[in-house]
Amino acid sequence: MLVFYFVRHLLRLTKPKRKPKWRGRRGRKKTGGGGGGFFVTIWIAAVMFKSNDILKKQTALKGERKIAMLVGITIIFMVHVFGVYWWYRNDYLLRPLFMVPPKDIPPFWHAIFIIMVNDTMVRQAAMTVKCMLLMYYKNSRGRNYRRQGQMLTLVEYLLLLYRALLPTPVWYRFFLNKEYGSLFSSLTTGLYLTFKLTSVVEKVQSFLSAVKALSRKDVHYGSYATAEQAVAAGDMCAICQEKMHVPVLLRCKHIFCEDCVSEWFERERTCPLCRALVKPADIRSFGDGSTSLFFQLF
Ligand SMILES: [Zn+2]
Ligand SMILES: [Zn+2]
Repeated sequence: MLVFYFVRHLLRLTKPKRKPKWRGRRGRKKTGGGGGGFFVTIWIAAVMFKSNDILKKQTALKGERKIAMLVGITIIFMVHVFGVYWWYRNDYLLRPLFMVPPKDIPPFWHAIFIIMVNDTMVRQAAMTVKCMLLMYYKNSRGRNYRRQGQMLTLVEYLLLLYRALLPTPVWYRFFLNKEYGSLFSSLTTGLYLTFKLTSVVEKVQSFLSAVKALSRKDVHYGSYATAEQAVAAGDMCAICQEKMHVPVLLRCKHIFCEDCVSEWFERERTCPLCRALVKPADIRSFGDGSTSLFFQLF
């Protein structure tokens, strides 16, 4: 039932793409900035927002996920990304993706357009990767769900790093505009690059912490409980009200199944029973499959 709804919704979403409304609004050679570019931006942003919801729902489904559904979503996402780049098969969109500045100085709105489209499409592409991760980690329990969350977080931090770099070549070309006078232009370019450098360093740090979290084998908010400890605690998990499955002993000495408590710590940092602060402050987790929605314009 749910699957049917998803498919229908996706179909409805993709349908207008087959006969795009912006066709002919602007010549294909000189796009962006104008009305056509505006609608394209709205469209791809809407698709990305919707895709984010779909991905979050699929992640929450855990073992209930259907491979066919995930394959379908992956294909639709990919078709969308390739479709957009095929539509604008010009190098002004593609060059910044490889950190090469555009050939000529783009007008302001054109620069914004290039950055918005690339920023959105890169996220859509990353969602495809996340979808594949969800396929890979389907039918896994406990430790593997944690691993899935860590992988999703890692992909997101890598994406954030890349997205921080993405506008640089465009603005570099834009600011290094000799029309404003060479001193002014080199000054603004210098300021921009300094600002960029600090934000990139920050992103690299977050990414490295995400990598480090991946190599951490043990549960970092407690340790695995022995069978005796679990029995002494009644061998019943307070979260799922069932017999303990892979019991984890928290620092406050409360015991829960690893599955249950991992899911809890996706949102909370305190013990579900005594509210003691258990989980150390950490980098933000994107283990729920979400993708950051803010636009990285500069
Ligand atoms: Zn449990
Ligand atoms: Zn406790």
